[in-house]
Amino acid sequence: MSNRYRTILLFGAPGSGKGTQGKIIGQIPGFYHSSTGEIFRSLDLQTEMGRKFWEYAGRGELVPDEFTIALWKQFMKGVEFINQFHPENEFLVLDGLPRNLKQKELLDDVLDIKAIIYLRAERTKMFERLRRRALKENRFDDASDEVINKRMEVFGRETRPVLDHYPQNLIHRVDATMSQIRVLHEIVRVLVPLKEENDGLEISEAVGATAYAPAAEELAVGAWD
Ligand code: ADP
Repeated sequence: MSNRYRTILLFGAPGSGKGTQGKIIGQIPGFYHSSTGEIFRSLDLQTEMGRKFWEYAGRGELVPDEFTIALWKQFMKGVEFINQFHPENEFLVLDGLPRNLKQKELLDDVLDIKAIIYLRAERTKMFERLRRRALKENRFDDASDEVINKRMEVFGRETRPVLDHYPQNLIHRVDATMSQIRVLHEIVRVLVPLKEENDGLEISEAVGATAYAPAAEELAVGAWD
């Protein structure tokens, strides 16, 4: 048995909705959502780590790899320690990592990747979303078109190629321009069999539920059908 984290990767360009979907999936029992962007944003900007993040993210650049991975590992140890994440029976839903080949290599002995959800949309669509997010969430790294462009460019050059280095049968492409609930539906379709397999359930058993026969008392009071 490997002791790597059983992982679902949420993959996609800035503005593709990884964070939004990740948060929802993280509410499902058995799934723990971890977002590197959120971890970075929770840093105190007065600290050296916080300032480092601000410096790179403010330019639309990636934070240096070793620093990113070390911080993330430290965070994960913390959530295991305080019993928020139970890697022995839960899935890790990872959003925002790895973002380049170096990070992938640094994580290969930590992550056991079960599926990769690739949220895809046209660049112009994601651009619009980021502009809206800048207004709504006050994200400093969405504040200028120049920074957004830079992040898109970094995605195309460094992050997107990472996908070519994973087994292609793990990748599920999802159209990120569909409604949020439909995107969620597509993702859940991928997750259900993995979860059931993980729970040691036969999928057929789970789907073929036994017919429900209402008890006489229930019928008598006109109870639920
Ligand atoms: P988005 O996907 O919209 O760019 P994130 O919240 O994932 O937003 O990331 C915000 C910023 O945090 C990135 O632009 C980058 O500077 C930094 N960051 C997040 N994840 C990583 C990572 N894995 N490696 C390096 N920098 C990262």
